[in-house]
Amino acid sequence: MKKALITGITGQDGAYLAEFLLAKNYEVVGTFRRTSHKSLERLEILDLMDKVELVKMDLTDQISINKSIKYTQADEVYNLAAQSFVGASFDQPILTSNVNGLGALGVFEAVKEFSPHSKIYQASSSEMFGNSDEIKNENSRMYPASPYGVSKVFAHKTAQHYREAYDIFISCGILFNHESPLRGLEFVTKKITSAVARIKTNKQKILYLGNIKSKRDWGFAKDYVKAMWLMLQQEKPSDYVIATNESHSVEDFLVEAFEYAGLGDWKKYVEIDKKLIRPQDIDNLIGDASKAKKELGWTPTVQYKELVRLMIDDDLKLLEK
Ligand code: NDP
Repeated sequence: MKKALITGITGQDGAYLAEFLLAKNYEVVGTFRRTSHKSLERLEILDLMDKVELVKMDLTDQISINKSIKYTQADEVYNLAAQSFVGASFDQPILTSNVNGLGALGVFEAVKEFSPHSKIYQASSSEMFGNSDEIKNENSRMYPASPYGVSKVFAHKTAQHYREAYDIFISCGILFNHESPLRGLEFVTKKITSAVARIKTNKQKILYLGNIKSKRDWGFAKDYVKAMWLMLQQEKPSDYVIATNESHSVEDFLVEAFEYAGLGDWKKYVEIDKKLIRPQDIDNLIGDASKAKKELGWTPTVQYKELVRLMIDDDLKLLEK
């Protein structure tokens, strides 16, 4: 039986990855942070609480990173934990850099010292690329447009350095946006689908948004966690773009979501709040996952329209409950 350690198991990807690995008969250990409120909700929703082992770890505390890596002796370490919200990184740039940048370095260093046989997956991001018109692949220029993007570039480059200098198996998944019913409420897709469900059931009147012109390449989180696993089943570590190769604006998402829910014109319900406009934004992100297709045999199974619909269906079901 293979053993996996997932940092950030309480997050969207962590919960789906745990479910995926359990179905492949892995023993799954996941890290969580002590909080004064409920943070294990996603594991409860997927009915995973009795199936995984939880260990306390915070990426800002090297001692707890060392302990969890040393204790688990995992075959595969998935470093998913992060301050993952781009918007929040403008308000908390130092925390974001500590967690996403130095925290990742802490994981690589702990593996090097205490569990060098472990293969590592590092959660890199399309936000590393920043603004440019090209369709992004593994070799595209990195010119991040947020403290989040900068912190992910640091972790990405450090992963490459540890791979080359210490011969550690580290693969980086450069994942483009991926969404699901488990997506955090502050992310624009989930913000829209949950608002649509609330408006439909008369629980909300107005949805406030920032820049609705920006375009993203949105895929389905369950497809994307499979790609993470595939990367660690290869003989050699590498970096892979994971994307759908389609991009849509937030405005397109609004049209699709309000129409699908039978609410008609989204403009009746949406107002732009200047406070939500970021100091810098990326106009368009679109990824080319040809390398993942060729080497991993990976392709997305859910495209944008189906994704919008499944998220709305789930939000409506939640409200019915
Ligand atoms: P989530 O925000 O849903 O989950 C983040 C996880 O990290 C949570 O378990 C959270 O714990 C944990 N975490 C946050 N801060 C710390 C800390 N200081 N120490 C330990 N754990 C911490 O993110 P996703 O699941 O969506 O994303 C997974 C990874 O993939 C992240 O690294 C993200 O940046 C990256 N990524 C995500 C993309 C996406 O579209 N989803 C795209 C590209 C990259 P808690 O529950 O306690 O907050």
